[in-house]
Formats: sequence, structure tokens, C-alpha cells
Amino acid sequence: MSELLFTNTLKGSRAYELLGGDFSNGLGHAYMLVSSDDEVVKEFFTLIASTVFCTENSACLKCNECSKVLHGNHPDVVVVNGEGQVIKADAIRELTEDAGIRSFSGTKLYYIHRADLMNAVAQNKLLKTLEEPPKGVTIFLGVSNESAMLDTIKSRTRQIALDIFDNATVKEAMMSLGIDEDTASLSADCSEGLLGKAYKIAGSPDYANLYSSALNLLKGLNRSADVITVDRIPELTKKTDEFFNILSIVLRDMLAVKGNNPVLSRHVGLEIRNIAEGFSAKAISEIILLINEARRKLSLNVNLQGTIDSLLFSILEAKYKWQ
Ligand SMILES: [Zn+2]
Repeated sequence: MSELLFTNTLKGSRAYELLGGDFSNGLGHAYMLVSSDDEVVKEFFTLIASTVFCTENSACLKCNECSKVLHGNHPDVVVVNGEGQVIKADAIRELTEDAGIRSFSGTKLYYIHRADLMNAVAQNKLLKTLEEPPKGVTIFLGVSNESAMLDTIKSRTRQIALDIFDNATVKEAMMSLGIDEDTASLSADCSEGLLGKAYKIAGSPDYANLYSSALNLLKGLNRSADVITVDRIPELTKKTDEFFNILSIVLRDMLAVKGNNPVLSRHVGLEIRNIAEGFSAKAISEIILLINEARRKLSLNVNLQGTIDSLLFSILEAKYKWQ
């Protein structure tokens, strides 16, 4: 099973608290653990399994039982599709057959990772087990995209949405992993409250560069002659997608400044405030639309350099049209 990174944060989460009663009164037959942060969903299930089998207190992560769960060799904890691939009916047939065999402890937990990748045949197969669950069996479905699940499955599972954590909690979780404070702030700012997403950002050295490049673009674009200089920002052509993402975050923050709302990217909040002074709210809104349009063109394989040049000129135009 995967390495646990966020145990403390998850133990303090609302989602874990919601399961508290079930831990003491007995688990239900099926749960859907919902979050787009799929690696964290997997970790959350590990925490649940440790809580169920721990012989010390709840999920000590040290005792013999916990350690079996952590190492993926607990006889009564079965993980299906740990790699997050498309799940076919065969995999579910195996689960169903296995679930029919009496467990060692009387309790048996199954976790289907990225259950939203089950095809319809597999989902219908699983439905049969959910309708007549063997005694002592609990099935957890890790789901990124709830809309991919059949309503019949949804109605037979208890849905638990993982927390969207506040900025401070995400930052603290990052720092507890030894990530430096600046990187932790940056990744928390861009994480949308998702621990796994923050962790990925923290591990990608490009993010800080992308931010400063996005700010440089907005600062440096004042006359048509500037387009040539701005054009040389390397991330613009090399990491266009991510660059546009960050640029959109910065622009949304500029709009927030105009409306006296808090900015998302607090680590560069002051700079965003300064840049926002040079743009009207109307200009910013139009630039956001222009970026979306450029994205759409690129998805249709329109020439990259041409699209970027025309975007830069349009940004300039919008800036002065709506002063
Ligand atoms: Zn334990």
C-alpha cells in the first residue's frame, strides 16, 4: 500500500469524524469515498482499515495489525485496482468470489481504487454484491468522478466526501513533511484545498517560476513593442497549459482585489495588488475570456506561436480599451 503522508490531517478531518459512529457501532456494507484527490482517498481508506483492525488505540499505525494494513498484507483487507486503471468485470468477479469466502477475523474490507473507472458491466456486477452483501463484508469505493457511478450503486452506498481543507491546514500538512515555508504557502495557495494536489505542486520546482513569469507578463505588457520581450518568457511556449492556469489564477485574484475580496495566491498578494492597479475590472474579465479562447484554439491544434502572439496583442488591447 502507498506511503502515508497525511495521517494526522486526515485523522482530524470531518470525513473521518463522520465515520466515528460506524467505527464504534459497526460498519455499513458499502461506502463511497469521494474526492478528486485520488491518492489521498487511497490513504484515507488505509487509515479506515487501520482504525478497524488496530489492536492498540484507533489506527496507531504501529501495532502488528496496523503494520499489516500498511504493508498491504493484512488477510482481511483487499485493495482492488491500486494503480487506478480501467476496471473490467473480471476484477469485480474475483472480488465477489473472494467476498463469499469466510474471513479470518469476521470482518473483511474491500477497497476499489478509482471505482469510477469501472465500466458499466463491472458496476452492474458489483451491484449484485451490494444488494446481497455477505456478512461482515464492507466495500469501499474510492471515487474521483461521482457522475461516472450508476445511480443504483450510489443509492446502495453511503457517500462520504473528503474534506476540502483550508489554506492553513494544507500549509501545515506540507510543512510537516519537511517542505519549506515558502513552497508550502505556494502549494497551499494553488491546491484548492486538496492535500495531494498541494503535495504535487510542492514537488514541482516549476510552479514558483510559472508564478513569477505570469506576473512578469502582466507587468511587462504596456506597449505593442513589449510583445516581443514578453514573447520570450520561456514558460509561455514550453509549459503553455500550466502557464495559462497560473495566469488565470492571478487574473482571478486581480478581480478579487477589485472587489475587495481576499486573494487566493497570498504568497504574491502584494504584487498582485500592485499589478491590479494598472487594469480595470472589465479589462481583467475580458483577458480571462481571451485566455480561455487561446486555450480552446490550442486544443484544436492551432499554431502555438501565432496563438500566443495574438493573445498578447489582445491582452494589451483589452487593457487600454477598458481603462
Ligand atoms: Zn494499531
